[in-house]
Amino acid sequence: MKFTPQKKPIHGETLESLTTRLAEIGEKPFRARQVMEWLYKKRVGSWEEMSNLSKTLRQWLEAEFDLNPAPLVLTKRAGDVTDKLLLKLGDGALIETVIIRAPQEGVGLTHSRKTVCLSTQVGCAYGCKFCASGLEGWKRNLSTGEIVAQLLQVCHLEDERTPRARPEIPSFDNIVVMGMGEPLANYDNLMAALAIANAEWGLHFGARRITVSTSGLVPQIRKLAETGAQFRLAISLHGASNEVREQIMPVNRKWPLEELLPAAGEFSRRHGRMLTLEYILIEEINDNLDQAEKLVEIARDLHAHVNLIPYNTVEGLPWKRPGIPRQNRFLQILRDGGISVTIRREKGHDINAACGQLRLQTEKSGLPATA
Ligand code: SAH
Ligand code: SF4
Repeated sequence: MKFTPQKKPIHGETLESLTTRLAEIGEKPFRARQVMEWLYKKRVGSWEEMSNLSKTLRQWLEAEFDLNPAPLVLTKRAGDVTDKLLLKLGDGALIETVIIRAPQEGVGLTHSRKTVCLSTQVGCAYGCKFCASGLEGWKRNLSTGEIVAQLLQVCHLEDERTPRARPEIPSFDNIVVMGMGEPLANYDNLMAALAIANAEWGLHFGARRITVSTSGLVPQIRKLAETGAQFRLAISLHGASNEVREQIMPVNRKWPLEELLPAAGEFSRRHGRMLTLEYILIEEINDNLDQAEKLVEIARDLHAHVNLIPYNTVEGLPWKRPGIPRQNRFLQILRDGGISVTIRREKGHDINAACGQLRLQTEKSGLPATA
């Protein structure tokens, strides 16, 4: 069988790198800016639509780059609050991107705030015991272009549904890097992708509206703190003592709390904004009073916000979501401790919105994966 090498996604290029490539074929520097405008402001779906470029240049671009490196295979909608996009990459791998809508008080769903949840890897090597993404291990890192392409897929989908008054502005309000994979294990590609999202010639999306979630990779948290990047950080804590955390998160053996918490503190100090501690509630594992009290101490020391997430059932895993009274008891201890805390009353539970679940199901049933 003939092997056709995959083309590089155009979304992995920066204005600078594309200018250099175009200079090599004798094109003027402003051509690169025009391409970026078609991609990120006008957001066209084909090379032909880039009407101010010569046919020769369009043909060259088409031969060199992939304009749709992550086509949509399936969308699943849960009520009016969550859309899950299943995307198929050039090598056949499946990833998920989620759109979460939070209706704004009094203005209805058409004016809801939209958050995009991005994947950064195919699978995950960190093997947290409650997570569908880690169940079948790590396959590969997403490229910069594959990360950026997820944002454009969301824009295309949303633009089709609701035509925009100001077309050049992205069709979402926040980005959370909380989909499949450990973002900080794909540090370079992720940072390059977020820089493109942030760039004036790119999506021009504010860094402060981007949250990166990590299971606690200490060296990368320190590195991120040093760069002075404005992204928000969320730490997946899920256990307030090493003993409990290590039962469900193998990463805790490598970077236990005595290393993770100072690194998180360092990030918070340099960044000057509250970080978030994510805490899944799993019945009888991490939801007892002792853990709640320890979590109060940790959050207080770090001046962190706590986001409680009742465990989302994953087929084949033994864990249970605690009942509402138990969830509320945990929540109350944090409130009584003076901690800023929210509890996520599940959005998208009925479409398997926790990371990696739709992909896992699809790969098991085989259907859209081969479509
Ligand atoms: N690897 C990163 C980001 C992806 S996971 C991290 O671990 O932070 C994003 C969030 O989804 C994490 O807080 C993770 O713990 C949570 N999550 C994973 N499986 C879940 C489940 N079954 N129910 C609820 N939350 C889950
Ligand atoms: Fe990986 Fe995050 Fe899932 Fe843990 S929770 S297995 S780090 S994706």
